[in-house]
Amino acid sequence: MASDCIFCKIIAREIPAQIIKETEDMVVIKDRAPKAPIHYLIIPKKHSINIADISDEDAFIAGKLLLVARDLSKDLDGSQAFRLISNSGKEVGQSVFHTHFHFLAGKHMSDF
Ligand code: 5GP
Ligand code: ZN
Repeated sequence: MASDCIFCKIIAREIPAQIIKETEDMVVIKDRAPKAPIHYLIIPKKHSINIADISDEDAFIAGKLLLVARDLSKDLDGSQAFRLISNSGKEVGQSVFHTHFHFLAGKHMSDF
């Protein structure tokens, strides 16, 4: 756990969040400022800054993250379409420096 990391604190239940799902190595929470009707954050429990910072030994967890996204899509009402985004670096919009993926669904999202 990194001290002063919002997501590490959420994982440790030191600050509250709406937790949708938890596995051995991942938590899924509702984004506090949703940009789509469904906007979850898939957060690996192990702290890393972003995708550029993950190590080869994290390959198994990285793969499991996709399976969590798959499972979340199965629980959607109606369309099971979704978008998965991860900002890696402040220049592209990363604002929380603990690796996470945005899971977005529930509206037409043709724009990039
Ligand atoms: P980023 O900008 O790093 O790609 O995404 C960070 C996301 O985390 C943002 O969409 C922001 O709304 C969300 N966020 C930041 N702090 C909190 C928090 O304390 N609780 C929750 N639920 N979401 C947060
Ligand atoms: Zn962290």
